[in-house]
Amino acid sequence: MLLDYNSLLLAVGLSAVGLCMTFFAAWLSSRAERFMLTWSLGLLLVVGNILAFSSYNQVYNPFVGALAFALLVFGLAVIFGAAREFRLRRPRGQMILSIGIPGAVFVALPFALGLDGLGVIIGNLLAALLLGATAIEYWAGRKEAPLPIFAVVLLYAVCALSFLPCAALVILAGNLSIGAAPSNWAEDLNLTICIITLTGIGALSLSLNQSRLTQRHRHEAETDVLTGLLNRRAMFDRYGSSMLPANVAMILFDLDDFKSINDRFGHAVGDAVLRKFTAALRSAAGPDDLAVRMGGEEFALLVLEASTEGALKSAEAVRLAFEAEAMLTDAGLLQTTVSAGLCFSDAPIALEESLRRADSALYRAKRDGRNRVVACNLRLVA
Ligand code: GH3
Ligand code: MG
Ligand code: MG
Repeated sequence: MLLDYNSLLLAVGLSAVGLCMTFFAAWLSSRAERFMLTWSLGLLLVVGNILAFSSYNQVYNPFVGALAFALLVFGLAVIFGAAREFRLRRPRGQMILSIGIPGAVFVALPFALGLDGLGVIIGNLLAALLLGATAIEYWAGRKEAPLPIFAVVLLYAVCALSFLPCAALVILAGNLSIGAAPSNWAEDLNLTICIITLTGIGALSLSLNQSRLTQRHRHEAETDVLTGLLNRRAMFDRYGSSMLPANVAMILFDLDDFKSINDRFGHAVGDAVLRKFTAALRSAAGPDDLAVRMGGEEFALLVLEASTEGALKSAEAVRLAFEAEAMLTDAGLLQTTVSAGLCFSDAPIALEESLRRADSALYRAKRDGRNRVVACNLRLVA
């Protein structure tokens, strides 16, 4: 072995301290990511374990041994909890305590009873179990980012396996009361693997979090706050730079006399009308259609693989659903209507062009009296 046991212990300790601080700082700058805080707490406990273990290694004291293994088991329970928080995106404090506390007590007890060998076996088996469970947890969430998550799973699994020989050697020796900290090739190997996997897991976890943040920012930039629909930018990001495929229908909706609704009923009611329209739009949109708030009281429905009849049906369904129910407001019943312009294209078409054509159909729907759908040369009157 190139390094002695204490140098390896120091190396694991330093890399755990570094990662603990990095995760804490990362959590400070994006507090919604609770798992970062949990992870740094887990690492802090592991650092405590290393300090206690270093002391146990120099001067035999069963209570320090108990503390070292209790901190290891509790710390790994917290790290397992952090993995679950990462996958489920919600705090798992109770689950962590319900695994960590009994685990820590279970591993500390044999030391107090003078069975330090048994404590070492239990401690290493529990560490392998918790790290294995953490690997499984990441595996369950691999869909989010298959490649880096697969690497994280592999690192946790290797780290878990490295604890098994430590337990196996004590079992094979058949000595449940060693009276000294275990020192053998398995311990050295375990520490070496911990240094490698801990660093890799730390770097990968940070990059996973970064890509999750980027995705969230992108989602926020493409979502309309009032209605939750995609916004104009999202539509142009997706289809602005290439041609729309053939057989596509663009339907533009514009609420009728919306300004007067605001004037008569107030802005808050106006907002409620926009949400009511959103519900009508969503209920008529198919799973592959793109429903967009273009701005103000203007909306679009982009129907891929459409037919003129199918798109007209969708537009009519939105119009009728929006008109069907009057809204009850403090100032009385409010009847709402919408006009729509539709452009169907059986050949590839630029987004701008399809919007321009749908807009001119919408203009005709307004000019001809509102509350109707006009499709290029077709029209449906309420
Ligand atoms: P038309 O039937 O010709 O479409 O008339 P209109 O009154 O609907 O059209 P106009 O463009 O004159 O008015 C649109 C109004 O929509 C003006 C603006 O104050 C209002 N508006 C835009 N965004 C919002 C919003 O987020 N909330 C509310 N409450 N009103 C909005
Ligand atoms: Mg308008
Ligand atoms: Mg309008």
